[in-house]
Amino acid sequence: MTRNYFLNHDPKRPPDSGDPCWIFLTPTQAVDAVAMDFQAYGPQPELLRRIAPLVLGPQCRTALSEENRNGVTVWRGASFEPVQDHSLGFYLIHVMETAPPDLNTLAHICRRVFQTTTFAGKLTADDEPGIWVHSQMDGFVCRQCGQCCRQLDYETGCDESDIRLWQDRGRTDILAWVQYLDTPGESVDRAYRIWVDPDTGKTARTCPWLGSCPDHSNRFVCTIHAIKPEVCRQYPYTAKHAAMTGCSGRFAAQTEPPVHTNP
Ligand code: SF4
Repeated sequence: MTRNYFLNHDPKRPPDSGDPCWIFLTPTQAVDAVAMDFQAYGPQPELLRRIAPLVLGPQCRTALSEENRNGVTVWRGASFEPVQDHSLGFYLIHVMETAPPDLNTLAHICRRVFQTTTFAGKLTADDEPGIWVHSQMDGFVCRQCGQCCRQLDYETGCDESDIRLWQDRGRTDILAWVQYLDTPGESVDRAYRIWVDPDTGKTARTCPWLGSCPDHSNRFVCTIHAIKPEVCRQYPYTAKHAAMTGCSGRFAAQTEPPVHTNP
């Protein structure tokens, strides 16, 4: 599950569980989220090797390529043939889009891809079924290491709601670090880049709003915490997102299933 996916996706809550960490995806959204995971995190040959039989059927046999650590070999007829992991990823998404797996298999695929608890179920008893995915963000504790503020690429993560918030608060000091980008065509959505130094016109490598914690020399604080951009507010989106992007925060790994699961 990727940053952009979760920024753009309105999470649906299971009505009776009260747990805000359960996210409901329609089958189409689930396949989209899998595709975005493949794009976001680069080579994941072991993951692809494990989900290929779920997508292509149990007759599909795979192994990691010995020569190419980003490669997978797939059994096709009489012999194993080498495949680059991204090619296999594209192919698996293509198969899932053109011949969607049954919901329980899709939930199994999502479980492996997102490394969390998933269920085939419904949003409410009357709704079409889809996939429940647990973000594992309950009990997340940030260690204030500042890694995300210093290392991650959040440059294009700022959106219109952030701009409106800073305008409403009169924060011209923050707006001064936002660059407005021309968007091609007739799109009404404007694009922005943060944090662009108003003096040099260069994008800052470290977030300019990152400050040292007065009590701990090796911890950091966000000096605009209450009005920081949504992209920072949402980070990390899932336990996998944290693991794949170097977040050292702590997770409480307990999940309770939502109420409307398939029999
Ligand atoms: S990387 Fe994780 S633990 Fe470190 S400051 Fe960011 S959210 Fe907190």
